[in-house]
Amino acid sequence: MSNFRDIVSSIMTLEGAVVEQIEPQGIEVIAPEPLQKALSIPEWSRIGFGPELPDQAMRVTIESDWTEKIGNLLGNRGRILSISLEENSLPKLPSNPEQLIKHEIDMKNATYRLKDIQEEKTRYLLLTFQITAISDEKREDILSLCLNESNGVIVDNLCDPILAHISSLKNGDVQEPEDDVSPAPWDVQRVKEVVKKIIPERIRTRLSPFLSGMERRMKRDIDRLYDYHTDLRREAAKRLAEKKQKGKEEEELEKEHSRLASIAREYRTKIADLQRKYAMTVEIDLVQSLRLIMPVYRFNIVIMRRKGSRNIHMDWNPISKKLESLFCQSCLSSLTPYWVCDDHLHLLCPSCISTCTSCNKEYCRVCYPTKCSKCGHSS
Ligand SMILES: [Zn+2]
Ligand SMILES: [Zn+2]
Ligand SMILES: [Zn+2]
Repeated sequence: MSNFRDIVSSIMTLEGAVVEQIEPQGIEVIAPEPLQKALSIPEWSRIGFGPELPDQAMRVTIESDWTEKIGNLLGNRGRILSISLEENSLPKLPSNPEQLIKHEIDMKNATYRLKDIQEEKTRYLLLTFQITAISDEKREDILSLCLNESNGVIVDNLCDPILAHISSLKNGDVQEPEDDVSPAPWDVQRVKEVVKKIIPERIRTRLSPFLSGMERRMKRDIDRLYDYHTDLRREAAKRLAEKKQKGKEEEELEKEHSRLASIAREYRTKIADLQRKYAMTVEIDLVQSLRLIMPVYRFNIVIMRRKGSRNIHMDWNPISKKLESLFCQSCLSSLTPYWVCDDHLHLLCPSCISTCTSCNKEYCRVCYPTKCSKCGHSS
């Protein structure tokens, strides 16, 4: 919780307060008027963040309404941070670079060659989203994405190591970026397109425990409803059979028929109600963006297919100590083995070079995103 104390202290200081750390795990604050209003605190106050409170302190936790109050206070400020990490020297690369690539490149119809490995700088964009899923219950979660802007690779396994590394830094370790890294930072539109493609699957994975809990509750309710209405139907059918046997009037039998129909109607309405109750909506809010410039080892690779060749690169990151993974250039998934298209040597997952449903020929979904290249059939 001391992290939260540091965050609150820094924000209050930036907003003009005099903040002093007190123990156990607290602060003493003299706040200017606007801050008093924004956080509903008096001019002088003591705040405690841990299980033990300092004398006369009020308790503030990350679950309290202070997160929202601080969010309102900051507005759109503090959502984008650009920093540069200058490592004095990169750690030594593992001794088997060829082996590292072999592990990441699995190509079905092309070969490749490692041209060289160079020290380079790259720019990562790390986006943090708040996900709010609402159905019969509400669930909030945080999801981070990391993109290497030099080659568009999505580096999921970098989010946690980068965030942990940054929070372990002292102020002096972080520099104002001198952004001479090429290519230029991505524009908002390009970032949005990638996020739109990759985020649904990641949200589904993240929410899967919540989803399966919800599905369990829904199944339980549906089973109960089914049992209850089956009993009702059975009784009505039994009554109808008895009346028939006793040779009752048509009017009497009609009553039982309409009772059966209304049981079926009620069942359908109740099922529809359940579907509404358990329908899930998910809201996604971008809460923080970080542009990070840092040195990497760049593996320059040539992909070769028939007479064509194409240069690509993969970066080895010194924080995660891992080489990034390739991905399908059409759907951005990392389903292997990859296939390489004839015309532009795009790297594709099996389904993005799959056969056309009309002429049965394979074609590249990057070169031809909407129609089959051979027969023009719309996909
Ligand atoms: Zn694909
Ligand atoms: Zn292609
Ligand atoms: Zn076709």
